[in-house]
Amino acid sequence: MENIIIIGSGPAAHTAAIYCGRANLNPLMFEGMMAGGIAAGGQLTTTTEVENFPGFPDGISGPDLMARMREQSVKCGATIETVTVDKVNFKSRPLKVIAGKDTIDAKTIILATGATAKRMNLPGEDRLWQRGISACAVCDGALPIFRNKPLVIIGGGDSAIEEATHLTKYASKVYIIHRRDELRASKAMQNRAFANDKIEIVWDSVPVEALGAQVLSDVKIKNVKTEEEQVIEASGLFYAIGHLPNTAFLENQVDLDATGYIATKPGTAQTSVEGVFACGDVQDKRYRQAVTAAGTGCMAALEAEKYLFENSA
Ligand code: FAD
Ligand code: NDP
Repeated sequence: MENIIIIGSGPAAHTAAIYCGRANLNPLMFEGMMAGGIAAGGQLTTTTEVENFPGFPDGISGPDLMARMREQSVKCGATIETVTVDKVNFKSRPLKVIAGKDTIDAKTIILATGATAKRMNLPGEDRLWQRGISACAVCDGALPIFRNKPLVIIGGGDSAIEEATHLTKYASKVYIIHRRDELRASKAMQNRAFANDKIEIVWDSVPVEALGAQVLSDVKIKNVKTEEEQVIEASGLFYAIGHLPNTAFLENQVDLDATGYIATKPGTAQTSVEGVFACGDVQDKRYRQAVTAAGTGCMAALEAEKYLFENSA
């Protein structure tokens, strides 16, 4: 029987593995095999430079950062299986993790399976991904290619407004392209957007094509009511159309919130099931940063360690 199984492979999972390993708990990590369409290592394997993770003043590439975290997990005593977990069974004790034909028993489980940013797969998107197109304005907005340039954000929720406001620090202008004629964002956020001279909201519109030779130069949009198309000059296109938390494999064995994220007790990593903890983007739809994922990974590990100590016969 395992002391701790960690499911996932982003900054949350690896921080949990480092803490559990150093506590001599011999954690077993299932890092996934293209789980949710993303390589082991998680969302940062899909990006280029990470400039806001402490300790790397010159920045570090996302894949390099995750390779280093993995190396550190192994050095600290974690065993890593490159396998995707298909199911769990939390209805009885011991807790069970099912991967392919194998069922593994565990005393505690840390869920760190992250989330996947939704994309629209526009014509031109694959070619220009990370060459002007991004799903994280907070992460990428400060890059030189976006400075003093017009930028486009897709979406009408709180993220779209928050990220558009963030981008106005760097951009000459930010267009919010929204498919309806009213925003989903909270009133307070809406007022923030309406009061910002650099933000222009383009209503009833969706992007239809990303244009540019080497990097993004323009975005073609369409008015969904009139079908009229126009081309907007833009060096950046940022998606803020929501994320999908990777929780389908849990089949509701822990409580999820209304949008499918794992519900944790505020200020802790504790889920609705005793001995099962959650950390990172799979339980955080607000901050979604590598460093916050790592922080909650540490919380989950310390809570799991305490649980094991208190429940050891
Ligand atoms: P994730 O990184 O989401 O990884 C979880 C991984 O677990 C999955 O990707 C998958 O590989 C694995 N997994 C999923 N399901 C299973 C399963 N059933 N079994 C086994 N394994 C499974 N943040 C920053 O702080 N700075 C940045 O510069 C930055 N840039 C970004 C750029 C892009 C393009 C994106 C999309 C995000 C960026 N972020 C950045 C956000 C950051 O990547 C996330 O906040 C962070 O990776 C979340 O970490 P996590 O540990 O929750 O899991
Ligand atoms: P939301 O799901 O709230 O909003 C997504 C937006 O994208 C909606 O306006 C939606 O349009 C639009 N959209 C979705 N799919 C498409 C598509 N295929 N094409 C075009 N547009 C699309 O996601 P958020 O990430 O904004 O927010 C998630 C949660 O996090 C919310 O609960 C939010 O309140 C919270 N949050 C809070 C913050 C804060 O308080 N500071 C900051 C960020 C998030 P439509 O409206 O038509 O459905």
